[in-house]
Amino acid sequence: MAVTVLNETDSEALVEALNRCRTLPSPPGIAIQVVQLAQDPEAGLAEVADLICKDPALATRILRAANSPLYARNREITNLRQALMVLGLHATLSLALGFSLVAGIKKGEQDSLDYPLFWRRAVLAAMVSRALAEHLELDHSDDVFLIGLLQDIGMLALDRAFADYGELFGEATDHDDLAERERARFGSDHAAVGHWLLAKWGLPDFLCRAVGASHDPEGTRDMVPAQRDAVRCVSVSSSIADIFLSQGDREERIRKAARLAQTRLGVEAEAFTSLIESICEHWPETTRVYDLSVEHDFDPDAIMEEARDVLLVRNLHAIQQANEYRDRAESLEERNRTLEMKNRLDGLTNLYNRAYFEERIAEEFGLSDSHGWPLSLAFLDLDHFKRINDTYGHQVGDEVLRSVADVIMNTVRNTDIPCRYGGEEFVVVIPGYGADQAIHACERVRRRVAETPHALVNGEPVHCTLSVGLATHNGPRRFEGHADLVRAADRAVYAAKLGGRNRTVLYDTDSGD
Ligand code: GH3
Ligand code: MG
Ligand code: MG
Repeated sequence: MAVTVLNETDSEALVEALNRCRTLPSPPGIAIQVVQLAQDPEAGLAEVADLICKDPALATRILRAANSPLYARNREITNLRQALMVLGLHATLSLALGFSLVAGIKKGEQDSLDYPLFWRRAVLAAMVSRALAEHLELDHSDDVFLIGLLQDIGMLALDRAFADYGELFGEATDHDDLAERERARFGSDHAAVGHWLLAKWGLPDFLCRAVGASHDPEGTRDMVPAQRDAVRCVSVSSSIADIFLSQGDREERIRKAARLAQTRLGVEAEAFTSLIESICEHWPETTRVYDLSVEHDFDPDAIMEEARDVLLVRNLHAIQQANEYRDRAESLEERNRTLEMKNRLDGLTNLYNRAYFEERIAEEFGLSDSHGWPLSLAFLDLDHFKRINDTYGHQVGDEVLRSVADVIMNTVRNTDIPCRYGGEEFVVVIPGYGADQAIHACERVRRRVAETPHALVNGEPVHCTLSVGLATHNGPRRFEGHADLVRAADRAVYAAKLGGRNRTVLYDTDSGD
């Protein structure tokens, strides 16, 4: 078969060395027949049963798998036909291939890798891949299992083709580091070699390519979405498998894997913990089904407990942050109440003045960054205020400004900072509120201002409205500095005016930026 995978210029020597190697891992005969059968659209239950019966050890494993907690329904499965019905043809073939490879590829004289450990890791990563696929409700979770199982098969090929591979393997601190060392030494890593090897074995193209992309889920752009999702599951499985097999700092590995599962697959801490629990629960049975050596096996209970602890610590961290914010809010309220305010207040409206605003927005911007909580800023500009002056005179205008300021002051939270920015423009600094909550708060102010009669002229109420521009820092948009946040809120007011006034506009969604 033509080799098309390892075609980067610097891997030519690698392909040559691999091709020269007489002892590359090869699938047992039964596995080859399974692959052929899986690609035969005519093959039915009878053909699959016939093939599996040829290898009594394989048949026994399929029966055990069908009876294992992963598949077992209510009744005991006593013959291969029942097993095939329960598992389904496709899953049976995937399982058969996995079983025959794990059982059939054994350590040779020259090999330096620890084969029992290799297969234990492979089966673990495969279980994790399948569990992730099931969590994401992907189809064909058995294929995902197989990709997970074979993702590192290239390591066995490298070990057989290069005498110094064992040394390189021994020096690597973890799986990512190993791949990096391989790229430095051979120009390619074991994922690419795995792709090449599996293609040589005649495995379906998708499986081969998925293994090739297992270190780099970005390299799957030309795959269909379902395949891409499968590869992403596999790409996370390796870090999760490391949790179980590592000797060193397991806490850090749990954190790293949980982070990866969250960012690549959106798996949250709670789902992650149940995933670890389900692996731990099914592990003893799986080692029996795959006949894995129990040497150096891990203690599922200890791992389960540690995962719960670590992920709980993450939750605690979030709670601690919320407490810090609350403490901060309380002291802020205190400050707003008691500090001598005179030179901070605006003479006409009694809101904070512009100078105090400038001071506080800079301070709150820094706090928002250091604590990671959001900071919202609202600009409020009275609509057609000039007309009020022109119609009723400047004094009535002043009265309206005072009344609007009262409404703002009485509507915002005690921890918000309402200021008169200048003329008929106000700002409210809203620490700790993201855009959604801030929009709510602004809309409440806007409605109340519109509803309230702000003055009486000849017994007639004087009404006015305002336009609100809102911008939020760290929620999730970030601004470079507080001046940028102010500018953004100002632009949003402008958009609100253009949009017809008496409305709230959030910067970034409606203002066109
Ligand atoms: P828009 O809806 O576009 O904001 O129209 P507007 O008329 O509110 O805006 P513009 O900026 O054209 O006019 C603001 C007016 O507010 C002009 C100014 O005389 C008046 N103003 C500013 N400060 C005070 C004040 O302290 N008292 C009074 N009575 N009027 C003020
Ligand atoms: Mg104005
Ligand atoms: Mg105005």
